[in-house]
Amino acid sequence: MRKKTVRDIDVNGKRVLVRVDYNVPLDAGKILDDSRIRATLPTISYLREQQAKLILMSHLGRPKGRRDEALSLRPVAKRLGELLGGEASLRRPGVDHGDTPSPESGASLREARVQMTDCCVGAEVQRAAHSLGEGEILLLENLRFHPEEEANDREYAKALASLGEVYVNDAFGTAHRAHASTEGVARLLPAVAGFLMEKEIEFLSRAVENPERPYAAIIGGAKISTKMAVLEHLLSKVDKLLVGGGMANTFLKAEGFNVGESLVEDDYLEQAKNVMRHAEEKGVRLLLPADVIVAERSAADSPARRVSVKDVPEGWRIMDVGETTIDVFARALQDCRMVVWNGPMGVIEMAPFAHGSHRLAGVIANLGEATTIIGGGETAAVVEQVGLASRFSHVSTGGGASLEFLEGKELPGVAALMDA
Ligand code: ADP
Ligand code: MG
Repeated sequence: MRKKTVRDIDVNGKRVLVRVDYNVPLDAGKILDDSRIRATLPTISYLREQQAKLILMSHLGRPKGRRDEALSLRPVAKRLGELLGGEASLRRPGVDHGDTPSPESGASLREARVQMTDCCVGAEVQRAAHSLGEGEILLLENLRFHPEEEANDREYAKALASLGEVYVNDAFGTAHRAHASTEGVARLLPAVAGFLMEKEIEFLSRAVENPERPYAAIIGGAKISTKMAVLEHLLSKVDKLLVGGGMANTFLKAEGFNVGESLVEDDYLEQAKNVMRHAEEKGVRLLLPADVIVAERSAADSPARRVSVKDVPEGWRIMDVGETTIDVFARALQDCRMVVWNGPMGVIEMAPFAHGSHRLAGVIANLGEATTIIGGGETAAVVEQVGLASRFSHVSTGGGASLEFLEGKELPGVAALMDA
């Protein structure tokens, strides 16, 4: 799948409406992690270099369609201004910005003060958007202060669209939702992908359309019920399927092993058998854990030990995969040219049971030539934790969105962008 990007459309001097994902973790108005803001800088800088007038929009948290001061984007506007100010003056010290006429707008290009409005639609926003100078930035207030955003209300989408002449979507994390700012506006303006969105589409579509081979998928996480669609879809694409985490327990039980008090979904035993049968029919090599770390209780300080999957003690529970499993997985991955990983191998929230996932992250990071892709929120957190994110070809920024992409679903926010 190829979509038009900001490079493929004339944005010069135009009002460009950009959907970003500024859903940052906040504590009493303080931004705990600004990586989502930083991630949008390439698109924003490019558009400013093209003398575009930027109108940025995002949701933040779950205000449930009502104004909630605690979820205002004001702290984000401030942080973005700081990031851009530093960046702009570092990159082009004292440079006069070509055809920006007034000294005022020249100064704002360098300092990049980000304007804000109290709302995201209405007369005040209209005025602010239409009086933007080239390179200037307006951030709209939280889109989800209005119930019309998630309802993909047509009038609301029209009001947003009226602010810009071109629409750019750089918010992959919400692309699986058909909301007014992700899908509605894209139907009303020429719609293209930003650089973040472009990279997501490029890597994730390779994983489902034309993967390099051999191709392995590693699927883990808590429940098989949330991963059935991705398992079935990837089965028709991959050469090897490696299963770990809590969901492997349901496979192990379906194979006749005793899994003690482990997390199991008894309603899915048949489906697990189907996956194993389909793998065999398609000639996909399916690997399940050979050994596991079991604990007496689900607690970090619980007694724990490593056992073969044949010997899970009555009353104990599986919390992580064992060393042998990671050794076997590592060998299976060695010749792979493409590896997709979604879902941790164990209960990563408890340090003693994060080891399998950490080791696996290291194995994949060291695969040399292979294209390596991480999808899924917790899995991305694991590779960040061990400082290996930069050693993967692509770490998706969208948990739910990347999972739906790997399930072969069409994401409404991506589908609405112009084809390249
Ligand atoms: P992602 O967000 O990367 O898609 P998931 O949300 O599917 O991943 O799964 C992450 C969760 O899986 C973690 O909270 C982790 O505790 C849980 N998990 C992994 N292994 C086990 C296990 N053996 N027993 C219970 N929960 C597990
Ligand atoms: Mg998750």
